[in-house]
Amino acid sequence: DEVVSKIAAGEVVVNPASVVKELVENSIDADANSIEVQIKDGGKSYIKVSDNGFGMSKEDLLLAVQRYTTSKIASIEDIYNITSYGFRGEALASIGEVSRLVITTSNGNESNKLEMVGGKVIKVSEIYRERGTTVEVFDLFFNIPARRKFLSSEKIERRMVTEVIERFLLTKPKIKFLFKIDEEVVYNAPSSNLSERFKLVFPEVKSFEEIDSCTDEIIKISGIISSPQFFRKNRSGQLFFVNGRFVLDNLLHLALERGYGEALTEGTHPYAVIFIEVPPREVDVNIHPQKLQVKFSEPRMIYDAIARCVRDTLRKFEG
Ligand code: ADP
Ligand code: MG
Repeated sequence: DEVVSKIAAGEVVVNPASVVKELVENSIDADANSIEVQIKDGGKSYIKVSDNGFGMSKEDLLLAVQRYTTSKIASIEDIYNITSYGFRGEALASIGEVSRLVITTSNGNESNKLEMVGGKVIKVSEIYRERGTTVEVFDLFFNIPARRKFLSSEKIERRMVTEVIERFLLTKPKIKFLFKIDEEVVYNAPSSNLSERFKLVFPEVKSFEEIDSCTDEIIKISGIISSPQFFRKNRSGQLFFVNGRFVLDNLLHLALERGYGEALTEGTHPYAVIFIEVPPREVDVNIHPQKLQVKFSEPRMIYDAIARCVRDTLRKFEG
């Protein structure tokens, strides 16, 4: 019923940043190579994610905003995915429950527009647009005052959305991104590579090196680390991705800084973007969509590998 679905929506939709994350993931899933994101009022009054992906037919569009549509389950593997992620197939429906939602989409064949208010489809019409999808989310939590009140200040919501965008910039350097806050362009990023994206996200870092082919039989580590001369007073310039997914784990920061060893002065924290690839059996990424913790079956092995790869990469600053 209505109450149950509003509560369920809260699991995947907690703030503008979580909406942006889900919508951009959908654009990436649709094979888009150009994605535009705009927020207003920290995303509280307006969020737009627009892509040039493969779009949807009218039928797909109507299914996309429905909860628990069995037609979303195409195979046994999908059923497995639904249980392992818990919330697969819920994002658009959840966002639709708690906002005014407008989607326009074209699969190159047909173009349609769907309008939804508080979980109810109020209009579907034929339109014209180029191939791709645009999702607009107005007035997040307009129908759940308690949750709306719980949102942070515009400034904090804006920062959280920007961090989500920065993670996509770093993990998907081939995809072109345009990100606007209100009418101001914050990122206009053409298709490029990790190193260019690193410069864009951390322009203050004038010296950094890529980690070259640092791999053993089980773990593969890649990414970028800054020269120890470039640092922050906290660890906000250190991002870790495990099997492509952003994670927060103190062990990883400690391993990174252990790799720097004596090169670091007390209280300084270098910049790093580190990608860790491990076989899925070695890692348990918490299945809750809002929790970013990770559990390694062999944490010591991960720690040692990161420290070693960082130490090897540091030599490049001497040459
Ligand atoms: P999920 O991504 O887990 O399938 P969502 O609720 O996020 O669930 O999306 C539901 C469905 O809507 C997707 O499976 C996809 O078919 C369709 N969809 C959503 N966003 C897009 C998009 N930007 N382009 C094309 N199809 C989309
Ligand atoms: Mg999705």
